Amino acid sequence: MSDNIENLFYQELECIREQVKSCALTIMEHNLDESLMMDYLKQLEGVLENCVKTEHSVALARNAAKEAELRAVDETTSNPCSDLFDEVYEESLDELKQDFHVSEAIKTAPSIKAFNRLLGEQKESRNLNGQAENDDNNFEEVVTTQQTFSLLDPISKIIMTDPVRHKLCGHVYDRASVVSMIKASVKKGFRCPTMGCGYRKPLNISDLEDAPDIKREIRRQQQRGGMSSSHNHH
Ligand SMILES: [Zn+2]
Repeated sequence: MSDNIENLFYQELECIREQVKSCALTIMEHNLDESLMMDYLKQLEGVLENCVKTEHSVALARNAAKEAELRAVDETTSNPCSDLFDEVYEESLDELKQDFHVSEAIKTAPSIKAFNRLLGEQKESRNLNGQAENDDNNFEEVVTTQQTFSLLDPISKIIMTDPVRHKLCGHVYDRASVVSMIKASVKKGFRCPTMGCGYRKPLNISDLEDAPDIKREIRRQQQRGGMSSSHNHH
């Protein structure tokens, strides 16, 4: 995928997420029958899951292609060898699929976590007030908190290896993905891809700083031998 198409792809996904959010809020504003409402919301969650699945396969394919580019070289001349590429690509893709399960991506996806939090809060407020009350700001806040502790890069959806924080909004990304997105969108500017981020200006490479806290956390999780409990610290 060229960088421009890739950018479009992520913008499209972000659009879908925004629509899911506003659909969910609309559904909850109406005093629907509880089970009917939950049924609609489950379907919306399914849409978010499909977004994660799509992003996940694109991220794996991109990483496999990068790897194949490096590995597909003629052994004697060390020139790139296009005949080898397909084979190496399939191999890398298989390896990546084993290392990064889509189920794990769904379990840790900030968009889905935030959605479930929203549903939980909604249920609570219904029980308390007998009526649905929605606060948009509430939702944004939850999303931001979730994102702060996510160990997945919000762009590639893969566990970060070199996390950097954007000083002006506090969100964390993997250095390679955010730098390449910023460079690819010099004209239009690349805005923080974190859902619910209130910072609407284009990101600057000079505003990125190391995120040693996240790096430590990633290392700790990896030593523990699993990423599934990534939200259980603090
Ligand atoms: Zn942000």
